[in-house]
Amino acid sequence: MSNQYDVAVIGLGAMGSAAISFLAARGVRVIGFEAASPAHGLGSSHGDSRLIRLGYFEDPSYVPLLRRAYENWRELESLLRESILHVTGVLQIGKTDSKIVTGTLASCELHNLASETLDADQMRKRFPVFGLDDDEVAVLDPNGGWLKPEAAIWGYLRLAAANGAKLHLGEKVDAITPDDNGVNISAGGQKYRAARVIVATGSWISQLVPQLADMANPIRQVVAWYRPENGFTTNPLRMPAFLRDENDAGSFFGFPEIGPDGVKIGRHAHFMESIDPDQPNPAVNDRDRALLDDFAARRLPGMKGLRVNETTCRYTMLPGEDFLLDHLPGESRVIVASPCSGHGFKFTSVIGEILADLATKDGTDLPVDAFKFDRLLAAAEKAKANKTDGLVLPR
Ligand SMILES: Cc1cc2nc3c(=O)[nH]c(=O)nc-3n(C[C@H](O)[C@H](O)[C@H](O)COP(=O)(O)OP(=O)(O)OC[C@H]3O[C@@H](n4cnc5c(N)ncnc54)[C@H](O)[C@@H]3O)c2cc1C
Repeated sequence: MSNQYDVAVIGLGAMGSAAISFLAARGVRVIGFEAASPAHGLGSSHGDSRLIRLGYFEDPSYVPLLRRAYENWRELESLLRESILHVTGVLQIGKTDSKIVTGTLASCELHNLASETLDADQMRKRFPVFGLDDDEVAVLDPNGGWLKPEAAIWGYLRLAAANGAKLHLGEKVDAITPDDNGVNISAGGQKYRAARVIVATGSWISQLVPQLADMANPIRQVVAWYRPENGFTTNPLRMPAFLRDENDAGSFFGFPEIGPDGVKIGRHAHFMESIDPDQPNPAVNDRDRALLDDFAARRLPGMKGLRVNETTCRYTMLPGEDFLLDHLPGESRVIVASPCSGHGFKFTSVIGEILADLATKDGTDLPVDAFKFDRLLAAAEKAKANKTDGLVLPR
């Protein structure tokens, strides 16, 4: 039957494009559906750059996955003959007792990773673009850098197509109905059938996986670009990407001048404003601008008053700010790829491999126990008991 597949991948953003590429490379009969155009402006994977780092402050248990992610990014580049991963270092800046600093050092120590700790004076000499308080330090992760999200997604899709995957772009899946032998999929007025489906629909995840409705929270994210007149201190040879703990004001991230709009910055989780994924993101407003302009003026003083561009994007938060990569409980034919709480892009290259394993081999040798459904439910219970939204870092 022509509409019959081994695996269907729904949503061809970051996670779905990687998954379909791994599946097609393994010779699996696979079809992918994407409601819009991959890496489009209402998803979570546009905007030119995403941070990657190895000494993961959030939890050292992410490091083995990151090692594999780095390998897989390099493999993708060699298959595409294109550069996706740029290693320029990442600075993690904060007070000595901040989670960003202590967590990075703990990960580096446990996994024997290179790092360098710089005090405020050393930072001022070496990376003069950053404004620092005297009691702040920075941990330089020399393996850190940035990825090109749009190039990665389109690259994965090109490879998938070359390996025989069917790509239905601009075709939204309206419903999935599993039965004992497979899953019925309705999309674009047609019916399809697959033995397994991977749902990788980002901020729309609860529409096809209603079990996540109370847990997956799509929020609005805002980033802005600042272009100094003289790019001497902001070019990627002199300015690493960075993460910065600002105590009660949350944590900020930023990139050197990668493109024509200059230095990009944002605050992790921004104002934590929930959105309806079916509506366009509310436009950037004066409150957003004031937050980012204030940060730029204090922490990147050469950027003061030089905002040239701005955009919105979406995070989809899960309790505990973790990931979910698992079969749906009671539905072994449905595999859920979570949108990863605003820090998933760097893992795309390993999550694609994990999803392909879950769809073809039932399990994976990669360490994913922390991303199982029962862990998510436990984190949701904990967040409820503590009456928090489950955010790990302050805002
Ligand atoms: C501003 C910003 C900065 C970030 N910075 C970083 C960073 O520095 N480092 C990092 O690691 N991560 C970062 N992240 C997080 C990371 O980008 C996301 O975790 C990741 O991109 C999510 O990918 P996804 O595949 O889940 O979602 P998406 O890429 O949004 O893909 C989901 C796709 O599913 C499609 N879809 C939805 N419903 C359907 C349907 N019914 N049928 C068919 N298709 C459907 C959508 O159109 C969409 O294209 C950032 C995110 C944002 C927004």
